Amino acid sequence: YRTLLTGGSGFIATHILETLLKSGHSVVTTVRSQEKADRIQSAFSQYVDSNSLSFAIVPDIAAAGAFDAAVVSDPPFDLVLHTASPFHFNTKDSQKDLLDPAINGTTGILKAIAKSAPHVKRVVITSSFAAIVDAAGKPAGYVYSEKDWNPITAEQAVANAGFGYRASKTFAERAAWEFVAKEKPGFDLVTINPPLVFGPVIHHLSSLSSLNTSNELLRDIIQGKYQAEGLPRAGVFFWVDVRDLADAHVHAAERKEAGGKRFFVTAGDYSNEEVGRIVQENFSEYKDKVGDLSKAGYGEGRPKFDNKQSLEVLGIKYRTLEESIVDTVKSLKDIPA
Ligand code: NDP
Repeated sequence: YRTLLTGGSGFIATHILETLLKSGHSVVTTVRSQEKADRIQSAFSQYVDSNSLSFAIVPDIAAAGAFDAAVVSDPPFDLVLHTASPFHFNTKDSQKDLLDPAINGTTGILKAIAKSAPHVKRVVITSSFAAIVDAAGKPAGYVYSEKDWNPITAEQAVANAGFGYRASKTFAERAAWEFVAKEKPGFDLVTINPPLVFGPVIHHLSSLSSLNTSNELLRDIIQGKYQAEGLPRAGVFFWVDVRDLADAHVHAAERKEAGGKRFFVTAGDYSNEEVGRIVQENFSEYKDKVGDLSKAGYGEGRPKFDNKQSLEVLGIKYRTLEESIVDTVKSLKDIPA
């Protein structure tokens, strides 16, 4: 396959890139600068020499026409995986910093493909559990799955960065499904909706201060942030390992039967108590850094989930929480503080 991957510098996208290349795809990935392209090029140099990896520079996915040039390639693309979207909470302007890039990036790439890339048969978009979860809570025993949609409103979206991020993913994914329903383009759509993603960091990172958002909990634990006050309860209560998530994206792109579907890709539920205990049991050097775990358990009953469709259609075999946490912590050790 000839495949376009957006946001190739990201935590998740770097794993997707590795999986695509190992599966024999010829990949063009978009990054924001030549410097980022050069770093990826040297990390994946074996594939550059075989002409299976090249780059397109897209500095800002929020800009009109940002992907118009990137979707055109010779040979033409068969598949597009759109992962680029801001995931952080460092903003007072959710509209500009979260909603615009998420929504314009998604609609912009779909329009560009429909207009100029007629060979594309499938577009896979990285959405999120943020587009599924209901912040108001669900009744005890509720089973979350891909049939759920976050009911967040436009007014709530700009209230704070947490709402802003969840709305950015919800509105962008909705816009994507509406686009294919209305425009009936020559491709079908798959969305991948992961909850909190743990897993080893393999993208370039100059220091742990610029770590991707979903691994911050583990960085904070090993740096002793919770040593005095103890670990709080988890905010997101489901998780997945980034390597399984990369497989999910690649299988979603390749498998015909995935077309038109939305996938809640999760290994299951977790508590910060379990995460803290895994760190204590596997890393004696961090044992005293973890802090009290008595307030980090599940609380009122364990949340329930249905990931059957990801098992049956995408064939994912999920890693255990212990394997994921151990490998993540090991990878963080190599990065300067
Ligand atoms: P990262 O922050 O590592 O990756 C985000 C990527 O998007 C980076 O490549 C970043 O480029 C790019 N990007 C962000 N804003 C822009 C912009 N305005 N213009 C161009 N590129 C931009 O996070 P993740 O890898 O965790 O996230 C990847 C995707 O997965 C996102 O869509 C996110 O919403 C989704 N997701 C992540 C989850 C998680 O727990 N990690 C859970 C659910 C969904 P640069 O690095 O150059 O800024």
